[in-house]
Amino acid sequence: MKDLSKYTKEISELFSSTDNILLICHINPDGDAVGAQLAMYFYLKAAGKNVTMISPNYMQEFLKWMEGTDEICIFIRDRKKCINLIKEAGLIVLLDFNKPNRLGEAEQYVMSASAPKVIIDHHLDPDDLGSLVISEPSFCATAELVWELIREIEGKPFASPPFADAVYTGIITDTGNFEHGSYTPDTLRIVAELLEQGVAKNRILNLIYNNFSADRMKLQGFALNERMVVLPEFKTAYIYLSKEDLLSFNHVKGDTEGFVNLPLSISGIVFTAMFIEKDGFIKLSFRSKGKFPSNEIASGYFFGGGHCNASGGEYSDTLDNTISYFLNVLRENAWRFNENI
Ligand code: 5GP
Ligand code: MN
Repeated sequence: MKDLSKYTKEISELFSSTDNILLICHINPDGDAVGAQLAMYFYLKAAGKNVTMISPNYMQEFLKWMEGTDEICIFIRDRKKCINLIKEAGLIVLLDFNKPNRLGEAEQYVMSASAPKVIIDHHLDPDDLGSLVISEPSFCATAELVWELIREIEGKPFASPPFADAVYTGIITDTGNFEHGSYTPDTLRIVAELLEQGVAKNRILNLIYNNFSADRMKLQGFALNERMVVLPEFKTAYIYLSKEDLLSFNHVKGDTEGFVNLPLSISGIVFTAMFIEKDGFIKLSFRSKGKFPSNEIASGYFFGGGHCNASGGEYSDTLDNTISYFLNVLRENAWRFNENI
């Protein structure tokens, strides 16, 4: 296990320095962002702190069962309240991201807040956003990092049912239920500890993976049948969905989650992309196998970033133009596909 003891003195002092702690996750929060945020929330609440939470925008539908999500203030919905929370906070903890633009419309308020800021994150190349940057890319999930950090601070694992559910959710969603290679023996030791604590494993797996609408299943079928393009010469496959496509399947937030992983199971494919049409821009998700650095494509061409095997970005153009640009990017990067990957 990576030694986190170098952080404990400073973070303990920051936690002790105030009673008002604000936790903020990244825009379009996924299971790990919400899981890490809620795990920290339950720990600090148990320590007697006044803890508040903000998400820049709405979380995915399939996370709303999690205890504590009702307490998260949505910046784009409760703007005034969130701005006040940011102003009043004695300490701001930023979870599961390391670039200011991941704060969405909350960015200017958070960045100019007077409170000290702590980043707890597992992405590469952190910006220096805070007084304390706890950046540990070897952890498969920020929720895992939060669990270990608290164990280090307390000298023993913290145990509470909603805390365990939050950490477990963060770990299974960021590892694709242990399908991505990012988890380690230490992850499994933490999961073992969570199971021993009685985490509601089957319930959570059902809520996350067996909780889809019929429309979502049909959208998945449509995406694979009608909107997937396989490019064997680039070991790449991509899926694109227009606003109209989404509308015709009564799309709700989170419905396309996981689609980008599906073509990775095609033999010989090492890189996948998904293009989702939004208002005025295209949201991109990338996945890869092995050493293919999807995040270099995301940061080099699509104003994004992320991990080697899971990254994303965006592009302000039409769907057709974005796909043409992507094909040019593949041509420019053709050498990467000839490497031993
Ligand atoms: P997803 O494809 O699930 O939306 O995102 C996968 C990962 O890519 C996220 O965990 C995050 O690390 C990264 N990511 C996605 N979109 C962006 C983006 O627009 N900017 C940056 N910097 N990272 C992103
Ligand atoms: Mn994460």
